[in-house]
Amino acid sequence: MNLILLGPPGAGKGTQAQLLQHERGLVQLSTGDMLRAAVASGSELGKKAKGIMEKGELVPDGLMVGLIRDRIAQPDCAKGFILDGFPRTEAQARALDQMLAETGKKLDRVIEMEVDEKALTERIVGRYTCAVCGTGYHEKFKRPKVEGVCDVCGSKQFVRRKDDNAETMKTRMAAYRAQTEPLLPYYSGRGVLRKVDGMASMDEVHRQISGLLAGA
Ligand code: AMP
Repeated sequence: MNLILLGPPGAGKGTQAQLLQHERGLVQLSTGDMLRAAVASGSELGKKAKGIMEKGELVPDGLMVGLIRDRIAQPDCAKGFILDGFPRTEAQARALDQMLAETGKKLDRVIEMEVDEKALTERIVGRYTCAVCGTGYHEKFKRPKVEGVCDVCGSKQFVRRKDDNAETMKTRMAAYRAQTEPLLPYYSGRGVLRKVDGMASMDEVHRQISGLLAGA
């Protein structure tokens, strides 16, 4: 089963993709995570993407399409994947259609995570992750059980994304509205789009998504 999670920054795409990955053995393909790894490694792609990401703008389509094309051809994606953060433009969506057709794969569902825009900045600005295992936390909504210690791996080191601030958030939201929102009619026209209430609790959103996948 191949899925896309669609929604603005802070909608909870990464959290839900991780839950689905553990439960269904699908591979989470987060283009944001791939780009952050490229920046950390100092690769050519990372050098090109770094400044663009810090401003909250979109990395050029050609680079993104190349990244996903290589990734979905890997054997671990054969059972299915969850795209988290891709496609973000109509050109990316068209390129994805083409690569799926070429490889005999299909898109089963596009899940839109509907959220209240006013809540997004609060969600984004308070979030941080364990530097060792990547488990996500939030200052207000999900603190570790023991303050300063990761619940999952016991690490005491945490990191925050550079672009998770109120200023960059404005540019990221503008990019979402102008370039990514037009994908909703694009996928609805193909009959694969379904919506969930992204403001519900993490477990409830997961329950809603699982319900939608049952019929896919
Ligand atoms: P994310 O972790 O999905 O919020 O992505 C972080 C940043 O990476 C975005 O603000 C963009 O600068 C860049 N990025 C991630 N995915 C894409 C994409 N599909 N197209 C263009 N830029 C992307």
